[in-house]
Amino acid sequence: MPAAERDRAGWAALDPCVHCGFCLPACPTYLATGDESDSPRGRIMLMRALERGEIPADDPALVEHLDACLGCRGCEPVCPSGVGYGRGLETAREALARANSFSFRARAILTVFRHAFLWRPLFTLARLFRSTGLPAMLAGRGDTRFTLGMLASTAPMAAHAAGPDLPPFRPSDSRSIAIFSGCVMSTLFSHIHHATRRTLAANGYDVIEVRGQACCGALHEHAGDRASAEALARQNVDAFAEAAERADFIVVNSAGCGAMLKDYGHLLGDERAAAVAAKVRDVSELLAERGPRPGGALPIDVAYDAPCHLQHAQRVHAAPLAVLSAIPELRLTLLPGSDKCCGSAGIYSMLHPAMARAVLDMKVAELGAAVPRPDVVATGNPGCLMQIGAGLRAAGLPIDVAHPVELLDRSYRLAGIYISS
Ligand code: SF4
Ligand code: SF4
Repeated sequence: MPAAERDRAGWAALDPCVHCGFCLPACPTYLATGDESDSPRGRIMLMRALERGEIPADDPALVEHLDACLGCRGCEPVCPSGVGYGRGLETAREALARANSFSFRARAILTVFRHAFLWRPLFTLARLFRSTGLPAMLAGRGDTRFTLGMLASTAPMAAHAAGPDLPPFRPSDSRSIAIFSGCVMSTLFSHIHHATRRTLAANGYDVIEVRGQACCGALHEHAGDRASAEALARQNVDAFAEAAERADFIVVNSAGCGAMLKDYGHLLGDERAAAVAAKVRDVSELLAERGPRPGGALPIDVAYDAPCHLQHAQRVHAAPLAVLSAIPELRLTLLPGSDKCCGSAGIYSMLHPAMARAVLDMKVAELGAAVPRPDVVATGNPGCLMQIGAGLRAAGLPIDVAHPVELLDRSYRLAGIYISS
């Protein structure tokens, strides 16, 4: 599709806005600042002015307020007019990227995630540093200590037995799945990949390994770096095209990556990408399709926090709750604000730390005030695990963070499911 036609299609998603303001209470940045220009309605006004050429794309105030958007899309489900805010923002961010150069920090981060030869050794070193225990020991409130808290929060749950894969139970009616490996998930969160493989195998899914994968490109796409997002998406479509013919599904255990992979057909605009995208499922969707089978008792209080890119972008709500509900004696709660963004939003927390922390503080306050206080916050996205985990450490709250499949995996170990075959 020609660029101008594609841009109009993106802007058109904003056309239904009638400025009613119903979306304002759902917007974390508006709740943090109270500034209309930091609300969905205010930003839509700015984006319309940008499209019409009434405000230039390098206008500092325009850039500030559109950059400050988390891209969480919490404004979409509450909109009675069906405004496609995310599509409009995607178009606006591309226009901003064409007219303004990225900051040094943004360029450096996007370059690292663009190339596996950069992110793989970097995250491997970070994992080694994490294993010294220093990040957990030094985590706290200041910027550097908060970053250390984010790294410490990538570790497996304290009581989790990390060990090698155990032989899984295999039902006879198994289906084939290809696992999307990703960047941080394959390095800092490799324990979640192991848990994903084991819990899926225990529910009747056979795993196909797929070589030649890259980072999903979501960080680039959200920043307006469309060329890098397309290049990474093409590499993944090439890697998965053949596997997609053999596999029933492509499974993703990171909500942000899953939303991006499901959107590859739109991004690349070809049938091959659409065919790959059509097979993508969040791990919770596949587990919920099988129940999932129950495990051993885990009598702990768990607060589920819904990742924006799972609930708003993928519209997956019930499946993660079904995963957690398969764990006997686990007491599951949904706290007020559990559907609100945590402030992570890809690389947002690194580029806008003050706003990201203001948004996070609202969530941490809810968790700290909860009765009973949760033992664990469960959420299915790496950025959320790091952001919420660091926020809890900074607040001195003894609450762990975990991916729902980590908890199911632990429950299966307790039930002896993996060694029963
Ligand atoms: S985006 Fe939707 S909810 Fe928000 S002001 Fe526009 S029409 Fe109203
Ligand atoms: S995407 Fe999130 S931060 Fe941006 S306007 Fe919508 S609700 Fe607010």
